[in-house]
Amino acid sequence: MNLTPKSTKHYIHNALHDERLRNAVNKATQTSLSKSKSIKDQIPYWQNLRYRAHSIKKQVMENLDQYLEQFEKNCLANGIHVHWAVDAEQARNIILQIARDKQAKTIVKSKSLTTEELHLNDFLIENGLETLETDLGEYIVQLKGEIPSHLTAPALHLNRQDIGKLFHEKLGAPYTEEPTALLTIAREKLRAKFLAADIGISGVNFAVAQAGAVCVIENEANARLTVGLPKTHIAVMGIEKIVPGYKELATFLKLLAPSATGQKASVYVNIIGGAPYPKMHEGPQEMHVVILDNGRSRILADPQLRETLFCIRCGACLNICPVYQQVGGHAYGWVYMGPIGAALIPQYLGEKEGRYSPFASSLCCACFENCPVRINIPHHMLKLRNRIVDKGYSMKIEKFGIAAWAFLAKHPCLYRFATWFPGKFQLLLPKGMAFPAPGYFRQRALGLFDPKGFRKRFMQLQKK
Ligand code: SF4
Repeated sequence: MNLTPKSTKHYIHNALHDERLRNAVNKATQTSLSKSKSIKDQIPYWQNLRYRAHSIKKQVMENLDQYLEQFEKNCLANGIHVHWAVDAEQARNIILQIARDKQAKTIVKSKSLTTEELHLNDFLIENGLETLETDLGEYIVQLKGEIPSHLTAPALHLNRQDIGKLFHEKLGAPYTEEPTALLTIAREKLRAKFLAADIGISGVNFAVAQAGAVCVIENEANARLTVGLPKTHIAVMGIEKIVPGYKELATFLKLLAPSATGQKASVYVNIIGGAPYPKMHEGPQEMHVVILDNGRSRILADPQLRETLFCIRCGACLNICPVYQQVGGHAYGWVYMGPIGAALIPQYLGEKEGRYSPFASSLCCACFENCPVRINIPHHMLKLRNRIVDKGYSMKIEKFGIAAWAFLAKHPCLYRFATWFPGKFQLLLPKGMAFPAPGYFRQRALGLFDPKGFRKRFMQLQKK
């Protein structure tokens, strides 16, 4: 799927007219929201947890260099190979080199948005390595040739009929839309791949500095098989995934499941501190951690936007966002979507490339209220809008509108005419018909103008 933030206008238009997509996204987000609310209501100290998580992240980001060094030192002590990657290309090459050293042919992957950021699947496949996603949602979107449309539910935009058709077309399975049967089809295909895989690549939810261990959270146990069956495990993480110790990890674990999936706790919390069985003939004998920067230290150096690195990728801001609910995740054009994606895209891809993203928001602040780490996403979007406008990257129509208004504001006679004219023009229209305004007003009623004109009406109101 070749989406970019620039090329998504067409997708947004189609998404708004695709009733099936909108129903699927709406149903999934509403279900998540109601499950999440009912769990959070049972946690009386929920708000305290949010404040605590925010302050932990703030403290970590302010001392990230020290925590990363501590994490590396403890990983090495645990026998884990640590690799540092400045950008996506370096990370891809590190992983390819490990695969070549191991003479690997098959790779299974699990739970990693960071590797989506690297376009790792395509790269490994181009280099002759069979690479398969094993998380059910990721497996479905990989089969469909798409990117995930949600941070925690990658195939949220598809309903079970879509998945039944996909499995029938791509896997040759008899058509079914029964969830258990669909699951069985996927499981049968994937089990064989787990057993044959030479390397397992996983993401990292949290990296525990004091322990030199990574934490991978899941519900399906596919991550457990990915990191536990192949001989080599490679964990890929962004530098922001660090937490100081297990005590702090516990705070995030309490927040993540209720926010992400509306569960009290995730089904599996895997904590991996090295390859456990180097002398045994099965299971992982070697573990590597690839620590990725790819623009993160630039965000870290920006005190106004640093907070966007606090994200734990729970997807709660997506579920509650009225914009995401209408168009789904592909409309954002990149691997991070929804409100947090809209704030991250210009920071990762550059303000020119990502100039439309921060405007894909109604600034209703629901994302901030729902974020377990209290990231003030609307504030960051405003900041980014400000910078995009300052650099001259705003849309042509917007530039024209502001320039026209500035010109009128400097010429009172013209301004008076411009505020008087719509009311008079409206008199020529059939009675009750609103001023014709394309686009935005197609689905909204525009109020009638006062035929007296704005200035007269304003003065009359002032007198009153
Ligand atoms: S910004 Fe907050 S709500 Fe959104 S995904 Fe990140 S942690 Fe979750």
